Amino acid sequence: MSDRRHQAGDHPPAWPYHLVFAGIGAVLGLGSPIGAFLARWWRADPVIFSLWARMDLSDNFFFYGYMGVGTILAFAAFGWYAGKHIESHRVHNQDLRRRVEELHLRSVTDGMTGAFSHAYLQEALSIELERARREGHPLSVLMLDLDDFKKLNDGHGHLFGDRVLKELTETASMNIRQEDVLGRYGGEEFLVIMPGADAEVAAQVAERVRKAFERASIVPIHGGVPVRTTVSIGAASGDGRDGLDALGLIALADKRLYAAKRAGKNRVVDSEA
Ligand code: GH3
Ligand code: MG
Ligand code: MG
Repeated sequence: MSDRRHQAGDHPPAWPYHLVFAGIGAVLGLGSPIGAFLARWWRADPVIFSLWARMDLSDNFFFYGYMGVGTILAFAAFGWYAGKHIESHRVHNQDLRRRVEELHLRSVTDGMTGAFSHAYLQEALSIELERARREGHPLSVLMLDLDDFKKLNDGHGHLFGDRVLKELTETASMNIRQEDVLGRYGGEEFLVIMPGADAEVAAQVAERVRKAFERASIVPIHGGVPVRTTVSIGAASGDGRDGLDALGLIALADKRLYAAKRAGKNRVVDSEA
């Protein structure tokens, strides 16, 4: 979902601005001696141009030299200065844009796990459900909840608990598609939004995440025997046309999650018993 669009000005120009502008300045500066020469020729209106030109250039050698070197250098120096100025603005703007993007990303993600925030999930689910309704494709959600997480916190400390939350985020993101949205719904609850996935696909993905997490062993903060832990998952599907809105879909997934807990945890429930 992290749609990082490239914008104009993200990449440095092929040639540094100060060189390009100095070059343009030099060409413009050349206009001054050429202009002076043409003006003198027009006023002199010679019969034999080549003879007049040779004489004019040699008689006014200093004048043309001054115009040629002086104005070209002055224009090129001005172009150099302006180019440097523009380049520093470009870099500054690029830094600003990066900072805005970074702040935006920070405002929609959970600082600890990097998963999307609760508010973002609500927004994304409403948008995706509306799109599913419009385009006539299914949409599924998975509600994940760590099993006996309180016990784990009590036994190994909250820092280890945090490590487990990050591990679950990583395992889940590695087992979903790029267009799926993974967010932290609450303390140790996560929600996955899967546009285009029907109930069958949702159950398969949920089972894949559950199994992968069950296999993961997480090393305690101060070392020692790696700990294994599990997750329970409730899955629900809709298409935006069946009367289930975003909250209804979440409530259904939540209900199934608690059914999974009651049935013994470490399992996926995707329908009513
Ligand atoms: P169940 O298997 O039924 O889900 O039991 P549980 O212990 O996982 O669930 P419970 O709701 O009793 O406890 C959830 C715990 O999650 C309690 C809370 O301290 C912990 N928790 C919530 N947010 C965080 C967090 O950010 N970091 C850590 N380390 N723990 C958290
Ligand atoms: Mg919970
Ligand atoms: Mg729990």
